[in-house]
Amino acid sequence: MLFRLFAFAVSLAAVAGVRAQVPAPRDPEIEKIVAEISPARIEATIRKLVTFKTRHTLSTTTSPDTGIGAARNWIKSELERYSRESGGRLSVEFNAFQQPPSPPRLPQGAEIVNVVATLPGKQTGAKERVYVVSGHYDSRSLGIMDTDTFAPGANDDASGTAAVMELARVMAKYEFDATIVFMAVAAEEQGLQGARHWAVTAKEKGVNVAAMFTNDIVGNTLREDGTRDRSHVRLFAEGVPVPVAPARELPAEVLAQLRTGGENDFPTRQLARAIQATAARYVPQLPVKIHYRRDRYLRGGDHSPFLDAGFAAVRFSDTYELYARQHQNVREENGVQYGDLPDFVDFAYTADVARVNAAALAEFSRAPAIPRGVEVETVRLENDTVLRWEANTEPDLAGYRIVWRDTAAPQWEHAIDVPKTETRHTVKGVSKDNVVFGVQAFDAAGHVSPAVYPKPRTTP
Ligand SMILES: [Zn+2]
Repeated sequence: MLFRLFAFAVSLAAVAGVRAQVPAPRDPEIEKIVAEISPARIEATIRKLVTFKTRHTLSTTTSPDTGIGAARNWIKSELERYSRESGGRLSVEFNAFQQPPSPPRLPQGAEIVNVVATLPGKQTGAKERVYVVSGHYDSRSLGIMDTDTFAPGANDDASGTAAVMELARVMAKYEFDATIVFMAVAAEEQGLQGARHWAVTAKEKGVNVAAMFTNDIVGNTLREDGTRDRSHVRLFAEGVPVPVAPARELPAEVLAQLRTGGENDFPTRQLARAIQATAARYVPQLPVKIHYRRDRYLRGGDHSPFLDAGFAAVRFSDTYELYARQHQNVREENGVQYGDLPDFVDFAYTADVARVNAAALAEFSRAPAIPRGVEVETVRLENDTVLRWEANTEPDLAGYRIVWRDTAAPQWEHAIDVPKTETRHTVKGVSKDNVVFGVQAFDAAGHVSPAVYPKPRTTP
């Protein structure tokens, strides 16, 4: 026992020499953005979206007040109003395309229309970096091809659409280094077609999508037993990038990372970790619970096509699946109310989910890009760790943060800051064999990027 205590004291002392508690300053403007997100606005948007009766992707596009056409016209006009109220920097457009026949959910094909609002970045060297946040505005009832039955889709996914619209309304009044794209997409229920089109086009055009968040079902807090659960928001984050079927082989760089124990440190997990840490600073009332999984069983979401295109992408969802309210026809049966009605949405909860999105989007789009060319030297046997990276080019760059954690720990445990003049640093007394390292970049105001896992470098 004595020996064990002694050994523990020694290990702490060994770490103490390099451990530094890094302050996490709060940006007063991000605090304002978070505070300006309005549950009442979100409620009004959800209730308005329900008035279109159905927002099925194949529903009418010619009625002025019913169907998906009327819904998207209204969403676009609202976003245009937010743009006018904020000096016109938010550019709003329909992103329309002809989807070829894709059975069973779009057997004849269809014209699909996403509503996209872009807030251009302000900083040279950062404005080409894009953050995408989405909700899907289409809805469905029990029958996937039923285009007429009342399909309120209040939680699935007027809640996510309203959250994204509220983010656009509030954030358009502020400036960010990088570009933020706010999207209300269609045809999620018909096979994720709206999001897939945007993601594939972005990949073809070489758009630098640094991260994508989808908000899908972010307003229910009721459980089947009648209790409420507002304890957290779920964040679904894939681990190893899975190749798109029918491909069976992992790319060489994925295999190389797996060979060094980097299975929990691909870009989507780094993104999830950074969202969780940022949300804890700005939205402490709603912890982010990361789930190491692409999505729920038997369900999908609009982050999936972004993952398939090679981008880091995550899904926000509320804590609990209340199946009586999803994809149901509105009816009462044996005293149970079925259907996705607005009275069952917890608008204050949805607003907190929007605040989590706002804090993360604002932090990352003000922070420098993630460092490039991050490497760990594996040249000789040693108990120190030498990390290297390429210099970032942003004018407001202040330095790099080396973070590390126990290999079995979920979140970063230690950090040291390195000035921007350095692109190589030795962490004394911490062996790369025993921990996982990452490197982040931060700016003069303290905004910090997600981390990057180092590749082994065998030459000095
Ligand atoms: Zn959905």
